[in-house]
Amino acid sequence: MVVESSVLATLRANVQRFEEQLAEALHQAGRRREEVLVVAVTKYVSPSVAALLPQLGWTHLGESRPQELWRKAQALPSEVTWHQVGHLQRNKVRRTLRHAQWIHSADRWSVLEQLDRDAQALGVRPRVLLQVNISQEETKGGFDPREMPQVVQHLGELASLEICGLMGMSGLRATPQERLRQFELLRNLRDELQKQCPPQVELRELSMGMSGDFPQAVAQGATILRIGSMLFEGLESE
Ligand SMILES: *Cc1c(COP(=O)(O)O)cnc(C)c1O
Repeated sequence: MVVESSVLATLRANVQRFEEQLAEALHQAGRRREEVLVVAVTKYVSPSVAALLPQLGWTHLGESRPQELWRKAQALPSEVTWHQVGHLQRNKVRRTLRHAQWIHSADRWSVLEQLDRDAQALGVRPRVLLQVNISQEETKGGFDPREMPQVVQHLGELASLEICGLMGMSGLRATPQERLRQFELLRNLRDELQKQCPPQVELRELSMGMSGDFPQAVAQGATILRIGSMLFEGLESE
């Protein structure tokens, strides 16, 4: 019998605990596991710990800081699909597009234009989500929900991007009930905006839900969860 390293064993136990809670949330919502993609946000751990996730079947990894995504993407095998989930400045767009197939955090029109230009120059077609400020907290980034109808009218101009949904974060101090309502707001906004989109744009993804609020996000139709701290409990950060 092969003795597992304690790090891998801890990670495996955390993954199992998460999967049990996710199964319960899906069951209550009458949804199936295949309906949600889980992105492991690896910002709390070193590249060597992140590299264990593909062994457990998790190949979608995310980072909030672009520099950290570049670093880990270079260290890990190319089977990993990388997601940039945190704020992205325009001057970091090109380098990020060399590694990340998904961008969750397009939060201004100027960033969308930069993404489009750099994607064209690199010959790539990233999947991009529009981040919306659903909690109305000053510190949270994202488009104001009220400016979204204007934004989606122009999405046809971004020919090198696959704009495929919305991303949102619930408020830091919100109660579970408030979080449920904020996620509902994002889903309703998506349904409304879809009617106004250019024909080639399909807003099928809702990236919402983190360690502390993924059951509420699942209840409101999340298709992508971004899970960090819960996976890495008991593991040292760098
Ligand atoms: C850190 C982070 C996550 C993961 O959050 P946890 O609460 O640790 O699960 C998800 N999304 C973004 C944008 C993050 O920065």
